[in-house]
Amino acid sequence: MNIILLGPPGAGKGTQAGMLVADRDMIQLSTGDMLRAARTSGTEMGKIVADVMDKGELVTDEIVIGLIREQLEGDKKGGFIFDGFPRTLAQADALADLLEENGEQLDAVIEMQVDDDTLVKRIVGRAAEAVAAGKEARADDNEDSVRIRLMEYYKKTAPLIGYYHAKGNLTSIDGLGTMDEVKSAISAVLNGGDIIGNG
Ligand code: AMP
Repeated sequence: MNIILLGPPGAGKGTQAGMLVADRDMIQLSTGDMLRAARTSGTEMGKIVADVMDKGELVTDEIVIGLIREQLEGDKKGGFIFDGFPRTLAQADALADLLEENGEQLDAVIEMQVDDDTLVKRIVGRAAEAVAAGKEARADDNEDSVRIRLMEYYKKTAPLIGYYHAKGNLTSIDGLGTMDEVKSAISAVLNGGDIIGNG
């Protein structure tokens, strides 16, 4: 089963993806994590994307599609969770092509709905927690970048809600509950409807 977790920054996509990896042996494909890894490895691509990421803007479609293409060729285990990808319509079209080329399909797109004030509080709180724990906060987890990331989301990513609705893949859930409540809502989507073959 291959799914997309769609939602603004701070919606809890990464947290929920991590739980799906543990429970269903799925593979989390987070383009944000891949880009952060590329930055620390000092590659040419990492240098190119660092500034863009810190500002809260989107990196080019070409770069992230390339990252995803590489991953789809590997082990599929219990299926892929696309976390933070696609973020533009061009990425969504590219994903459809890549899945088809690999003989795969998209089983569900789950939109996690969280209001803006909660998103900003969560992200700024996440940065404060990291610092309190002696870790480095994400460079883009500050109020200025968060506002830009939200605007990027509404301008470029939110149109995917209509796109996947029209394709018949979309289910929207309330992302405001506890981690376990949100997890249950996601499980209900994955276990229900037309989707077969999961535990
Ligand atoms: P995330 O960890 O998903 O919040 O992503 C952090 C940052 O990485 C974003 O603000 C973008 O700069 C970049 N990024 C991650 N995924 C994508 C994507 N699919 N398309 C464009 N930029 C991305």
